[in-house]
Amino acid sequence: MENNISKNFIEQEIEKDLQEKKYDEIVTRFPPEPNGYLHIGHAKSIIYNYSIAKKYGGHFNLRLDDTNPLKEKNEYVNSIIEDVNWLGVDYGKKVLYASNYFDKMFDYAILLINKGLAYVCDLSIDEVKKYRGDYNNVGTDSPYRNRTIEENLKLFYEMKDGKYKDGEKTLRAKIDMKSPNLNMRDPVIYRIAHLKHHNTGDKWCIYPMYDFAHPLEDAIEGISHSLCTLEFEDHRPFYEWVVNNCEFKKPPRQIEFAKLYLTNVITGKRYIKQLVDKGIVDGWDDPRLVTIAALRRRGYTKEAIKNFIELSGISKANSSSDYELLEYCIREDLKLKTKRMMAILDPIKLVIENYPKDKTEVLELPYNVENLELGTHKFTFSNELYIERDDFSIDPPNKYYRLFIGNEVRLMGAYYVKATRYETDNNGNVTTVYATYDENTKQDGRQVDRKVKGTIHFVDAKTAHQAKFKIFNNLVDEEKGKLNEDGTVNYNKNSLVIKNGFIEKELSLSKANDKFQFMRNGYFNVDYKESTNDLLVFNRIVDLKSSFKL
Ligand code: ATP
Ligand code: MG
Repeated sequence: MENNISKNFIEQEIEKDLQEKKYDEIVTRFPPEPNGYLHIGHAKSIIYNYSIAKKYGGHFNLRLDDTNPLKEKNEYVNSIIEDVNWLGVDYGKKVLYASNYFDKMFDYAILLINKGLAYVCDLSIDEVKKYRGDYNNVGTDSPYRNRTIEENLKLFYEMKDGKYKDGEKTLRAKIDMKSPNLNMRDPVIYRIAHLKHHNTGDKWCIYPMYDFAHPLEDAIEGISHSLCTLEFEDHRPFYEWVVNNCEFKKPPRQIEFAKLYLTNVITGKRYIKQLVDKGIVDGWDDPRLVTIAALRRRGYTKEAIKNFIELSGISKANSSSDYELLEYCIREDLKLKTKRMMAILDPIKLVIENYPKDKTEVLELPYNVENLELGTHKFTFSNELYIERDDFSIDPPNKYYRLFIGNEVRLMGAYYVKATRYETDNNGNVTTVYATYDENTKQDGRQVDRKVKGTIHFVDAKTAHQAKFKIFNNLVDEEKGKLNEDGTVNYNKNSLVIKNGFIEKELSLSKANDKFQFMRNGYFNVDYKESTNDLLVFNRIVDLKSSFKL
């Protein structure tokens, strides 16, 4: 795919650096914080970083940025690794953990103290904020700013040894309280937190702050280009300050690009977590979400995701990609790969009164008329079938070509049938339609003396299996606003529609994540979580058509 991404501002910078021999090798990374599942935006970062490393013959690291034990969990670590593996990018032999560099980071903090570039400060977090000033007002020096190197060393070791409580002291970089960039006003680089870490256990009670840890992680790994999203642009001066003052010979360069946003979906871990925690969705992999796990469960393929990311491009300005582009990509990917099968989502019975009651025929159609290599599809036909409720009308509107009393249609792959009468339940809903068939109209290549305007699909009631279908509507709506004023997600309460219907017999052997096109109903994926031996559950990935044009 790397050949298809046109040379953008990032590649131009990389090629300049290569010409100037700034780096021996191009090394990129994806550094997720294990505080949630990865989403489609992260997929963009993963695929793009990887494609850059590959394009320039370098390598790509997967590094868990696990420096904040408060929010991080092993469940998230495992899900991240699973998702990155599924996307199929090569991150070398092993997953890297930022927490494995805690010793080195501590040593760099000592180096900065020894250079007079860091000091221990006794101001509380609130006081630090107050002293920092704001965009209109310069900051004020901390009263602890001029401690001697010896005093700073002693206090910092004491912090490490657990002598102080959370929040009692911090280590801060000594830069410039008057800097126009707030991130340069003596940022805190270490804080005290008596917390157990998922990797290092109780070894540490001081933890590096993200803005200090991140450049060090990159530099320690020999990353050449640290590609990140735009919100880090203002942090770049401090990134450079850290890698330069910690004396790395070939310090990494940070270059920012715009986040991927998608219309009509919610990205952002904290919003997804909110929906998960409140039980509004069925876990981080609920198919209405756009976490990678959710997309996979819904039935998206990695090929479709990669194609989508390629088409959505890399830019320096924030914008939203159309969710319909993602749908276009999955349709394109599944169009030729999937078998076209019969499933009835909202069934009514069709009884063919002149067809022998004890007869069952085996009929045959190609699995996919656009890809004959998939072979042919055998299915049964008898006098009792299921058809879709909306393929019969008591009172047909204009231009309704499907079944109504007196009208003849083709049953896909089978015969012409003409509706004669119907039955309803107590509520007036149709339960059974009766019809007659014409045995001379079998769809086996023969010429039929008359044409019909409608073709409908069916499953044979005598061999069909029950199945559950999950149809998804947007969880959030762009126009109604994705968020409420109080920061909660403004979600659609009708985003999940469940249908209980039937599948043709062959489908009953399907396995988790098998994908099909169901005639006229869309592309479906077998849900790995809800399907049982007795009842398969199918997630609708996407319907068959849209007005979207590339
Ligand atoms: P979120 O904003 O969704 O909570 P995050 O940025 O906090 O995500 P991290 O784990 O910190 O998530 O991000 C890991 C990497 O993924 C970072 O390099 C970040 O820039 C990148 N990233 C996060 N969201 C997107 C996005 N929407 N598009 C592209 N890259 C992203
Ligand atoms: Mg983050």
